[in-house]
Amino acid sequence: MSFADSVTFKALQIAPAYRTFRAKYKLLQESQWWGAGQLEAYQLRQLSELLNHAYNNVPYYTKLFHKQGLTPRDIYGFDDLEKLPLLTKEMVRDNVDALRARNYAPRAFEYVTTGGSTGTPLGFYYEKGVSRAKEWAFMRTLWGRVGYRFTDKCVVLRGNVVPTADKGIYWKSAGFGRWLLLSSYHMNDENLPTYVARIREFRPKFIWAYPSTISFVANFMRKHHLEPISTLKAILCGSENIYPWQRDLLEQVFGCRVFSWYGQSEMGALAGECEASTEYHIFPEYGLVELIRHDGSVISNAGEQGEIVTTGFNNFIFPLIRYKTGDFAAYSDHACGCKRAYKVLPSVEGRRLQELIVGQNNVIFPFTALASIHSDMYDNVEQFQFYQERAGEIILNVVRSPDYTEGDSQKIRRELLKRLGSDMKLDIEYVDSITRTTAGKFRFVVQKLPVDQLISAEMEGIGA
Ligand SMILES: [Zn+2]
Repeated sequence: MSFADSVTFKALQIAPAYRTFRAKYKLLQESQWWGAGQLEAYQLRQLSELLNHAYNNVPYYTKLFHKQGLTPRDIYGFDDLEKLPLLTKEMVRDNVDALRARNYAPRAFEYVTTGGSTGTPLGFYYEKGVSRAKEWAFMRTLWGRVGYRFTDKCVVLRGNVVPTADKGIYWKSAGFGRWLLLSSYHMNDENLPTYVARIREFRPKFIWAYPSTISFVANFMRKHHLEPISTLKAILCGSENIYPWQRDLLEQVFGCRVFSWYGQSEMGALAGECEASTEYHIFPEYGLVELIRHDGSVISNAGEQGEIVTTGFNNFIFPLIRYKTGDFAAYSDHACGCKRAYKVLPSVEGRRLQELIVGQNNVIFPFTALASIHSDMYDNVEQFQFYQERAGEIILNVVRSPDYTEGDSQKIRRELLKRLGSDMKLDIEYVDSITRTTAGKFRFVVQKLPVDQLISAEMEGIGA
């Protein structure tokens, strides 16, 4: 095959994806300014289409509707959705085959996995060339709010593996030179000056990163009093919770906008900040978001926290209806100044199960409560990680900065025990480094206790 042939071949493969992207992107440019009524009507049409499709083509749902004595016609409005049960990760794992839509060719299925809450990865499917194209249309729309354009240069710090890293080249170029992908696995005091110099030389307008990764770079820059990167317009932070202290650090070091969003690989929900605010605006075009209490009832009032349950509109090949994400949020009590009629979440507590700490008598603390402390307690800490294998006992592993003193340990102990209670046994241990997960992400809590069992026991207690 000649070079020209291979280019044509590639173009033919890409063209449908590009058409999918264009259509969705065009819709979003208009629909983001629709009124609440128009958005609701759009969602109801999407929902009805999804339910009909699932009922007719997805064995899991055909069976489920029959079992509940329902057909899609019984679900008229959002309230009727409660007639369908919630879908847990375990149910997805146990029914992977039955959740595949039968009206797609086998080659249309792209297998994807995501890190599960208890360390077991969850496998599911995207529609090849379609799901990611739709996702990208949403991301582009989202990033457009802070001025992102397709031709802009962007540094990526998201767990990429760089093949030349063993030769001391910790980056690779992609997207016709517009992207610079940096290895997340070789960042240490010895290499970081090279990283920062390379980023500076690349002159990026944006850095797309895991909050933990870019915070690590920022911490280094602050410590060595390095200048901000003058070309930067914004830091784009996704895939992990961003904690207030990380946002403060990034804004301080880079002197630019820190822009974050909430989404999941399962493609159920996407919610991001806007030009005017750091609250998360839920894209109604992406899927239906419900907030659910422990007893399964639906929250509609502002301020009450519930689990995020999603019904995505963009992945018909593997539909997840009323999917329990394990993340928690509450609705905001005010509309955003940007004039979008989107529902808004002030923040999302990624209360993923591994991010819980268990106290005496199995009292459960979300890690977020410890990370959200606006305080100087971590000032002289380069990295930290909680480790737990016994209820009521916790080890905090700390990588110290050169300025760290015993006073820092006392401060940390005081602040943490204020929140965890003085009966928590806390050991602070000094370590040289903290390793990342295989996906290059950073875990703030390594939880060895069966927290999922504790939680369900807790929920049964409340629900009964
Ligand atoms: Zn807004």
